[in-house]
Amino acid sequence: MSDSGSKDNNQPTNVSVEAYQQATLAIRSGYQRSHEAEHSEAMFLTSSYVFDSAELAAKHFSNELNGNVYSRYTNPTVRAFEERLAVMEGGEQAVATSSGMAATLSVVMSLLQSGDHILCSKDVFGSTRVMLNNYIVKFGVQVSYVSLTDLDAWQQAIQPNTKMLFCETPSNPMSEVADLEALAAMSKKAGALFVVDNCFCTPALQRPLQWGADLVVHSATKYLDGQGRCLGGAVVGNSELIEKIVGFLRAAGPTMSPFNAWVFLKGLETLRIRMQAHSANAAELASWLNNHPKVTKVFYAGLEDHPGHGLAVKQQSDFGGVVSFAVSGGREQAWTVIDNTRMLSLTANLGDTKTTIVHPATTTHGRLSDEERQEAGIGQNLIRIAVGLEDIVDIKNDLQLGLDLI
Ligand SMILES: *Cc1c(COP(=O)(O)O)cnc(C)c1O
Repeated sequence: MSDSGSKDNNQPTNVSVEAYQQATLAIRSGYQRSHEAEHSEAMFLTSSYVFDSAELAAKHFSNELNGNVYSRYTNPTVRAFEERLAVMEGGEQAVATSSGMAATLSVVMSLLQSGDHILCSKDVFGSTRVMLNNYIVKFGVQVSYVSLTDLDAWQQAIQPNTKMLFCETPSNPMSEVADLEALAAMSKKAGALFVVDNCFCTPALQRPLQWGADLVVHSATKYLDGQGRCLGGAVVGNSELIEKIVGFLRAAGPTMSPFNAWVFLKGLETLRIRMQAHSANAAELASWLNNHPKVTKVFYAGLEDHPGHGLAVKQQSDFGGVVSFAVSGGREQAWTVIDNTRMLSLTANLGDTKTTIVHPATTTHGRLSDEERQEAGIGQNLIRIAVGLEDIVDIKNDLQLGLDLI
């Protein structure tokens, strides 16, 4: 599938981005076949690279020549993952990181400085808040939080020194949906960068750059892997911004391992069908829970009465795999349901083939104050399910074991 139409095995397998659909690019883009003519992408587990002469080594080190020097700088397998993800997000360039948190850290460290202000949505991943509140503020960067869906609150909280708007949509665990186009416009007007954590949807369901975001951050650990094996992250955007982040990563080192990059690269090939299957299972579970006598409310943007439904229809091609619901009663009843399932995994991770169940108020969101939790709508009777790819009949039956006891 080279541009020339040649079937010569020594041709790169790189396909032209314009000529193919996203599903094809997820499988075919970003890879240069080696001289071994392998069909599946090769993995380059090497920390450094050799040079043919002292002169060539000197030229590589002085950047007179571009080429591999050391895997903290570049690695062919990591590059393949970066190129494929960039194409899928519709961005010019991507850079891979050692984890999702390393992606957000690298964005902040490379693009902000002392005196700048970050405006962030309240319902971001727990460690994102801990990192900003406990560490980033130590370097003189201010942070404040607003409700994801309250556009007036965003506008009012913008300060003259606001340099970054950061959000995660849909939110965890309530599936609230941000208006990406409105936030991008607001950010642009304020001269700030708009950064979106696209972990829950992945580029298979949502491409924030298309709505005006400047950067997308990913925890590849979740759906990009899809089978709960590796930690990783990435940032996608225009080359000017990404090159600045690359500079930080080269110097500071939270880069992705080539082994993990290979796992994620192959994960991208099946991402679309996995996200469709996660979404189909989640939609069926949400509607079943919605009609269940022991369930008082279901939070899933795929349900028509969810406040984010309209925006989700506009921005996303499907609604993803995370469903939260409140049971009648309080913490005791929620814990009873969780403890009496037999198959579902009690773990905070998500984006796995295995369905996971968790009690947000005492785990993922346990560090919030009661007031903050109440404001976010995270009650003691709330349960979050990250729906996997098991048969939906078995997922429902397993939950029924717990629901029967309350
Ligand atoms: C897990 C997660 C992160 C952090 O990713 P790690 O790979 O665990 O560092 C960031 N954002 C969201 C939405 C996540 O779910």
